[in-house]
Amino acid sequence: MRFIDYLDKFSGTLLGVSIGDTLGHPFEGMIREEIYAKFTIFEDYLNKHKHLFNTYTDDTQLTIHTTQALIQGSGFNLDNFIREYIAWLDDPPIGPGFGCISSIKKLRYGIPWENAASNSGGNGTAMRISPLGLFYCKDITNLCDTVLKTSQLTHSHPAASAGAIVIARAIAYLIELTPETSIPIDRFFTTITSPILDSNEPIWNELVEILDKVKQNLNIPIEAGLIKFSQAGVRSPYFIEQYLGKAFVHPYTLSTVACAIFIFLKSLSSFKDCLYSLATAGGDSDTVGAIGGGLAGAYFGLKNIPEDLVKIVKGSKRILKLSSDLYNKFKERYG
Ligand SMILES: [Mg+2]
Repeated sequence: MRFIDYLDKFSGTLLGVSIGDTLGHPFEGMIREEIYAKFTIFEDYLNKHKHLFNTYTDDTQLTIHTTQALIQGSGFNLDNFIREYIAWLDDPPIGPGFGCISSIKKLRYGIPWENAASNSGGNGTAMRISPLGLFYCKDITNLCDTVLKTSQLTHSHPAASAGAIVIARAIAYLIELTPETSIPIDRFFTTITSPILDSNEPIWNELVEILDKVKQNLNIPIEAGLIKFSQAGVRSPYFIEQYLGKAFVHPYTLSTVACAIFIFLKSLSSFKDCLYSLATAGGDSDTVGAIGGGLAGAYFGLKNIPEDLVKIVKGSKRILKLSSDLYNKFKERYG
């Protein structure tokens, strides 16, 4: 049997989120071809412009608060989650999405979460969900239930919960693998879509169909795939016509999740290559970096993350400490 170092995987995942977010942040809102016009080799650009990669954003902030809430409650506890998300307002938020900030401000005013949640299908819940994929990796029924509750705290739209469930399930699946063996592609897609399969919710079914197309298109180049998927599932009034036919990942959950998974699976030669590809996706680059970075970190583990990328993250020691605290709670509960 393969030995899995879960602490290494927990640390790799949370650090992966923050590295992808930090690397993608300077490229948020740019078309992919504009980003690639800036350099021939990404690493040279990174080394020359370190000052641009000086912070993570809301994706990592909310992942940290989600982790803290899980640690405090040794699992999901509604009050802890609400308190942690409200505390995020004092961080203060960096580059927040409208769905998140509007609902969390309502929570702060004491409005019950059922009324506070925004009817947004934005990617704000998928970006923060990886700690639940870690903590509940041995308990998939609870994983799906708690991800749904966590997502609905701020986003009542089914697109948001569909993407959050898929990403958390993917994290739970990937930490059981090691980069020494390849990812069984059919099994990967079957596993991550199984919790949202055959649902009464049309948007959950739509994400299953989009992910099936991602699987069928893993042989096309990244640029072509991003043109295909970067507005997947997006509808008016969120559709941005000027970016049609461009690699510009729309900050909608279905499109962001599809693109992050597509790039991740296309870039498995190393953690570094994977993160460089994710963070330069175009459009919502920091969130593609954060979501895909979590997947990459779960798969590669901390031991395969180069030291220079760990160092780029502001407060990386704090994130490593939180990873280890979350791991200890996981060990206490699941042995
Ligand atoms: Mg962000």
